[in-house]
Amino acid sequence: MSLTITTIPCLSDNYAFVLNDGTRTALVDVPEAAPILKVLDEKGWSLDEVWLTHHHADHVDGLPALRERFPDLQITGAEADRDRLPRLDRAVGDGETFRFGDAEVHVLDVSGHTVGHVAFHVPSAQAAFTADSLMAFGCGRVFEGTMPQMWESLCKLRALPDDTIIYSGHEYTEKNADFALTIEPGNHALQTRVKEVRDKRQRGVATVPSTLRDERATNPFLRADLESVKDAVSMTGDDDADVFAEIRSRRDGF
Ligand code: ZN
Ligand code: FE
Repeated sequence: MSLTITTIPCLSDNYAFVLNDGTRTALVDVPEAAPILKVLDEKGWSLDEVWLTHHHADHVDGLPALRERFPDLQITGAEADRDRLPRLDRAVGDGETFRFGDAEVHVLDVSGHTVGHVAFHVPSAQAAFTADSLMAFGCGRVFEGTMPQMWESLCKLRALPDDTIIYSGHEYTEKNADFALTIEPGNHALQTRVKEVRDKRQRGVATVPSTLRDERATNPFLRADLESVKDAVSMTGDDDADVFAEIRSRRDGF
């Protein structure tokens, strides 16, 4: 049976995602319990597992309240960040896979925003849950890791198939779009997508998920190795990771 993926807005600008294969239900990240419980109740689903991307409060804080309703919840998260995550039932690392019903889930270490941040790729659903690593037009701020490490993480995600759907953790898209235009004002794919995003936000519609195809064409953080982008930030011929670092630093102050 194919996977149904439901996007759940939480807090002011977070997203959680519920996956259901007709038998089992999994949740990616737990910003807060109430909106998640509401969706589960509406769908008539119980909750079997939670997959955590990283330790930040806005991705884990709803877990205790969910456990009260579902005491047998199985928690999956990064072995590398075990000490800071809630108690894990399944600890995973880069390159490992686990099963969710018929689906295989691939774990990618995408450290940078935090050290130990993981993404979950479900090839059969063409879905990647990237949280605060790769975002729509953007990427997470580099808090714990290094710039080269974040660049490497984004390159890993960029290497997934073009039609992969990117389920990222926040509705930061419009601000990211404004910023992307400062780097590549002449990028036509970017201009077109920015219009679509503004229109969606005006109607209060979520801009997450997005597609990797669109991110490749418009997300400046995935394009730091292009000569045209290097030229645009006056770093012609410089190292890809250095150009990424420059773009990320500019976004920090934007
Ligand atoms: Zn975070
Ligand atoms: Fe976050």
